[in-house]
Amino acid sequence: MKNIVILGSTGSIGTATLQVVSAYPDRFRVAGLTAGRNVPLLLDQISVFKPEVVAVPDDDTCAELKKGLSSLTGPRPEVLYGVEGICRVAEMTSAHVVISAIVGSAGLLPTLCAVRSGKTVGLANKETLVMAGDIVMSEAAACGSVIIPVDSEHSAVFQCLQGHERKSLARIILTASGGPFIGRTHEEMKDVTPDDALKHPNWSMGRKISIDSATLMNKGLEVIEACRLFDLPAQEIDVLIHPQSIIHSMVEFIDGSLLAQLSRPDMKGPIAYALSWPERLDSVMEAVPWADLAPLTFQGPDREAFPCLSLAYSALEAGGTMPAVLNASNETAVQAFLDGIVRFTDIPAIIKKVMDSHAPQRADDIAVILEADRWAREESKIRFAGL
Ligand code: NAD
Ligand code: MG
Repeated sequence: MKNIVILGSTGSIGTATLQVVSAYPDRFRVAGLTAGRNVPLLLDQISVFKPEVVAVPDDDTCAELKKGLSSLTGPRPEVLYGVEGICRVAEMTSAHVVISAIVGSAGLLPTLCAVRSGKTVGLANKETLVMAGDIVMSEAAACGSVIIPVDSEHSAVFQCLQGHERKSLARIILTASGGPFIGRTHEEMKDVTPDDALKHPNWSMGRKISIDSATLMNKGLEVIEACRLFDLPAQEIDVLIHPQSIIHSMVEFIDGSLLAQLSRPDMKGPIAYALSWPERLDSVMEAVPWADLAPLTFQGPDREAFPCLSLAYSALEAGGTMPAVLNASNETAVQAFLDGIVRFTDIPAIIKKVMDSHAPQRADDIAVILEADRWAREESKIRFAGL
């Protein structure tokens, strides 16, 4: 029996993880949960999964949760709050696997706590590796923590690399659906609304990653994530648009041979693999309906219409704190777009301006990275005014 902690249990990845846990009750049990502010859903999860401990971000949410728990029958969990509380759940002694599925930079410190306590970490929160990839990977090596990617592309690469030596790898090809605006020009995206941008063709995901998929920043963040996870230079990572999302990514070896991982677009696949690795579980996903499938197509990304991808490569090249600045200005600009403050096409413009005014520092200290994150958020807000 594996004891599971889920950081971000009320989100898209968090709820999909609980579906996997429910489907294999003889293998997994929930030890701890953390969530944001969706108290009703967290209460439902507590009554079904009976964790020992839960944590929420602030004391108001904590008070609301405790009130709800008072009318719950059955065992009640210990309730913690704040970043410290979430970190305590991430490092709880009885946990074997921690699924890191908080969205955005709020996932960094709890993920680092799980890594430092030597847990197996199923990593969905790509922002952690974008901001502090070198620190997280070296702490993982030092503390005996295994990081298993949950992001579908990185899970695909991880699966294709099983049993292969690092020296035989030539490059990896990350596939991308292209999002809802594939084929449009910059001009044709000026007036799109948050509702238009949230309609992802193949995946149902949280709001922030859905907007990132529409701008192609999601793929940019994933290029940085792949560099850190697989210790590859940017030149060995390519991006290919594949609108059907059946091939989740590919690995090319030095002899010219390629391996790809294919399945229906269903996050339960990578989540179950991270929970059960190195084993595979029975019947996680339905089979691919080959005979009824639309043709699988491929094209290069349109970097002019979707400048976020090139911004991510530039951040990688600049190095140091620049990827953290890219990430923070993206998070701030995406939230401003969702709040109706800026246009969709302003997102890359804001990020570029913030990056242009940043002189990167060495990213070998978490405090320096968090300061760059804080600075970039302030700087982004100043840029909204100048639009
Ligand atoms: P989501 O918005 O659906 O869920 C986010 C979770 O984090 C929720 O439980 C929320 O309550 C919690 N949360 C938000 N802010 C918090 C804070 N300040 N402190 C503590 N908890 C907080 O997001 P999602 O789509 O599940 O994505 C989660 C992460 O997984 C992201 O980093 C995303 O890039 C990555 N990811 C998601 C998918 C997907 O299919 N959804 C695929 C690949 C990677
Ligand atoms: Mg992905």
